[in-house]
Amino acid sequence: MSDALEVLNPATEELVALVPAATRDEVDEAVVRAAAAQRGWAAAAPADRARLLRRFAAVVNGHIEELARLEVQEAGHTIGNARWEAGNVRDLLEFAAGGVERLSGRQIPVPGGLDITFLEPLGVIGVIAPWNFPMPIAAWGLAPALAAGNAVILKPAETTPLTALRLAELALEAGIPEYLFQVLPGRGPVTGNALVEHPGVAKIVFTGSTPVGKQIMAKCADRVKRVTLELGGKSPNIVFADADLDAAAAAAPMAFLDNTGQDCCARTRILVQRPVYDRFLDLLAPGIEAVRVGDPSEEKTQMGPLISRTQLDRVRSYVPDGAEAIRGTAPDGPGFWFPPTVLTGCDPTAPVATEEVFGPVAVVLPFEDEEEAVRLANATEYGLSGSLWTRDVGRAIRVSRAVAAGNLSVNSHSSVRYWTPFGGYKQSGLGRELGPDALTAFTETKNVFISTED
Ligand code: NAD
Repeated sequence: MSDALEVLNPATEELVALVPAATRDEVDEAVVRAAAAQRGWAAAAPADRARLLRRFAAVVNGHIEELARLEVQEAGHTIGNARWEAGNVRDLLEFAAGGVERLSGRQIPVPGGLDITFLEPLGVIGVIAPWNFPMPIAAWGLAPALAAGNAVILKPAETTPLTALRLAELALEAGIPEYLFQVLPGRGPVTGNALVEHPGVAKIVFTGSTPVGKQIMAKCADRVKRVTLELGGKSPNIVFADADLDAAAAAAPMAFLDNTGQDCCARTRILVQRPVYDRFLDLLAPGIEAVRVGDPSEEKTQMGPLISRTQLDRVRSYVPDGAEAIRGTAPDGPGFWFPPTVLTGCDPTAPVATEEVFGPVAVVLPFEDEEEAVRLANATEYGLSGSLWTRDVGRAIRVSRAVAAGNLSVNSHSSVRYWTPFGGYKQSGLGRELGPDALTAFTETKNVFISTED
């Protein structure tokens, strides 16, 4: 029997589906079909492409609840989050559709002629998505790539192929041409790697772990294949003594517990200025203890299970027995449960304080002054996101500029909006997604000079 992916419900460990894994030959066939579909798509009138993408958005909008329920089943996301995620796919498609007719080149003054640039599609794009936000991250690549005139082959993560497969069906229902958007579930080293190595794939958009991202980048280098990488994070949440401490403490739990901490932007290093350190912990503890952890399909649940047994074992390995910590609760019995955990009195160089745990675990560390806060914030190979809490506008700007990260927020924890750029400094990634330039990332600039000499 051919290789099949086991999709488990992370809240119950029950088998949800068995999904055939695509082979290297199937990738080859998909690339040929995608290339043919892309030529027709790129030649279509921009208004027609925009209209079809809007229709795709409308069909997704009509299936928000179904997609969200599927996400709860295969990824254990809370139903509220899952609805937001499905809505985000719709929003990304609408936003990208608005760019199709605005994707224009430039006219640059030159002597002796006319110089114009064209933004041409790249061809076939391989999107390799992770399991932590299966729908939004797939759409971050899918929507702008299609809008810019490309075809897309999406390889979802092994554990979460179902929403991706459903999105491909909805695309067809909306009238998106056959084979323009294909989903190939499969294993990273087989299906994902086949896309990376395929000469017919012009660009890889990868979101996942830093080690796999590095391997993919090295392989893309062989062909100078375009690559965008969204990798890990270990983001700081810096609380200065002059901050609105109640607001900072109230916001801190969900800033690292949302999606059970399986979020590359999770604020897992809480840095608190020494004079308010004890008070902040007193305010934080009830918030952690009160987080409602349980059945993700229930409306009131704030935090569900981890994605898999592997992830549960990994998260456990970071938290020593008897560690000094503030802990929340988690259900017993089947499911991949781990309670909200904030480690206090932790060595700032310990693995839990420097590595991406990707679970509901944060550390809290004291600092003396602004200089030390910035030094601690930057003492990581990552540079994805971060937050700072202060009432001093000058400090907010100084620290925002000094922290080496792609997405910072002041007096809030917001990182990701589809219309603002997103991406990492240092080993958190390469390139930017979303935002006003999202479509341009899926084009090649061609410069043409036309002589006006007689
Ligand atoms: P991963 O990097 O192995 O998987 C991400 C995607 O890459 C999946 O679709 C996977 O099938 C694919 N992949 C794996 N190996 C590949 C290869 N050799 N070639 C091509 N594609 C390949 O991540 P994981 O093992 O699922 O998670 C491990 C850790 O990665 C997590 O604990 C977390 O720290 C990190 N992670 C980060 C993000 C993020 O959003 N930055 C997402 C998922 C995981």
